[in-house]
Parts: sequence; C-alpha cells; structure tokens
Amino acid sequence: MQTPLVYSPTYNTDLKEFGVAKPFALDRGQCVLERLADDFGRAIPFVEPGPVGLPDILLVHTPEYVESLGDPRVWQEIFEFKGSEYRPEKARRPLNELFEDIRIKCGGTMLAAEMALQGGLAANLGGGYHHAFPDRGRGFCVLHDIAIAVRSLKKRGLCSKVLIVDLDFHQGDGTALIFQNDPDVYTLSVHSDEGWPEEKQQSTLDVPIRSGETHLYLERAGGALLTALSGFTPDLCVYVAGSDPYELDVLPGTRFINLTLEQMRQRDEFVIDTCANLGIPMASVFAGGYGPDVWEVHYWATRRLLEHAGWTAPAGARG
Ligand SMILES: [Zn+2]
Repeated sequence: MQTPLVYSPTYNTDLKEFGVAKPFALDRGQCVLERLADDFGRAIPFVEPGPVGLPDILLVHTPEYVESLGDPRVWQEIFEFKGSEYRPEKARRPLNELFEDIRIKCGGTMLAAEMALQGGLAANLGGGYHHAFPDRGRGFCVLHDIAIAVRSLKKRGLCSKVLIVDLDFHQGDGTALIFQNDPDVYTLSVHSDEGWPEEKQQSTLDVPIRSGETHLYLERAGGALLTALSGFTPDLCVYVAGSDPYELDVLPGTRFINLTLEQMRQRDEFVIDTCANLGIPMASVFAGGYGPDVWEVHYWATRRLLEHAGWTAPAGARG
C-alpha cells in the first residue's frame, strides 16, 4: 500500500548546534511516526523529499531577499529571538546554514502536494511557513513552502484552482499577501483576532476568533470551510493544520484560543473528512505548534488521513 506521508529525519533539526533554544517542537513528525508504529505494530513508511530548487523559490520570493539569506543577521531578525533564546557564543554553525534544511522542508510540502494530486490525500509531517513574505521572512518563517508548491504546480499545469485552509492560531498573512491578486487561489484563514501579527492581511475569507470565543471555534471553522467550498471548486486543497490553538501549546502569545485535544481532533477530522468525501486532493502541513505536547494533535490527524488512505490500525489500538 502506498504511503501518504512525507518526512525526513532531517526535519528534527538540532537547533542547539546553531545556538538556538526556542520551543519549536521540530520533533513532531518523529513523535507522530513513533506513536503510529506503536499502533500499527510496525513502522509506517514515508517518502523523503529533496530540497526545493531555486527556480521554484523565485516563483514566490525576490532574488534580493534570497541573496540576503547568506547573512546570519537576517536569520536572527526572522526568528525574533528574545532574551537567551539565541546564544551565538554556544553555536557551532552559523544560522544561515539552516538554508539547506529549510529547502528540504519546503520540498516536503511540494512532494506532499504532488502526492495528493495523484493519490487523494497526503501529509508533510512538517512545513507550513505561512508568515513568509516575498521580500522578507517573519515569525520563524523563512521561505513560504505552501506558496512555492502552489505556484510551481500551477506553472507545471498540475493544478489550476487551489484552496488553502489555514487553521493555525496565527493568521496566514504571508499566504494572503502572496495570493491577494490571484483569483485561482482561495485563501481561508481562521485565526486569533488578538496577538501577533498585529497587522492582519486580507485573505479571501478571514474568520477572526476573539478570546473567550473558543467554544465557537469549531462551528466557525467548519462553517467557513463549507462557505469556501460553496463558491469555489478547488482541484487541490492545502490544509495548514497548526497545533498552536491547542490548550497545551506553550507559546505565551497563543493563550487567546485554548482548544482541548478532542476539539483539535474534531477540527482536523472535519477538514480531512470533508476533502476526502468530496474527492478533493488534500495535502496537509504542520505549521505552528510549540512545546512537548502538541505532536499529539498531529498524531490524530495523521491517523485519520492514514485511515482514509486504507491503513487501518489493528483492533485494540487507541481510537
Ligand atoms: Zn501559528
């Protein structure tokens, strides 16, 4: 049976090598695969991506910006380090050497989208850098993997109309900006009205959630997806499945939405099931999610995706 999963052990970047101490949860893919292996009684195979090429990067980003990534100071700005999060004196490698690493993660999103177009559903167990702008990186996002994949696939004639469903805690502002004049890319963002980014961009459909409205989240997110699909028929959906609205996410800035694990599970299953039932190819990416517990959100989503792809865990497994 073909695997719908894209992953590389290199996703679990050792940031200590770069002098960085931030709770990025880069091991989410590894944690998901370990739990799935436990459920299924064997390792679930995955496909390893190669790095995305410069011509594809330049479909989204300016040559000046890409050139500037050779300078470690530009990376410091993108990661917005606070306090002791960056200790250059402890680094064994300069930050700009993360470029190859980021290119592979972007290649993962490209590969997952290609696999979705062939097989229906696929997941990159990483990626989702939805804040990157064409001329600068922001909010931990260096290259906009989703936009690079979408532009490349469209250029190659592999798809024409794309729906990007972004349920990360933070607005998919880079995505909104990049595709604001492209009627063939529908950008839907359900996000916290409060917190970063202070200045929001205009998506095709924005659904801001205010603090105290967590109980309305599932209804609004589900309704927004159905609204998008009622007027737009995509031949690919990219699901930006950020786990930072989860109550156990540790980033202080994500405190305004606190969904339980069960609610996160319902959220992800609604998106996956809707695409599967309508026969819309869907590729998911992880996007935001911080701290030691958020991987469990992605585990349940990946498990659902595997079930749609024909992988069923033996009886007795969690579920
Ligand atoms: Zn986020």
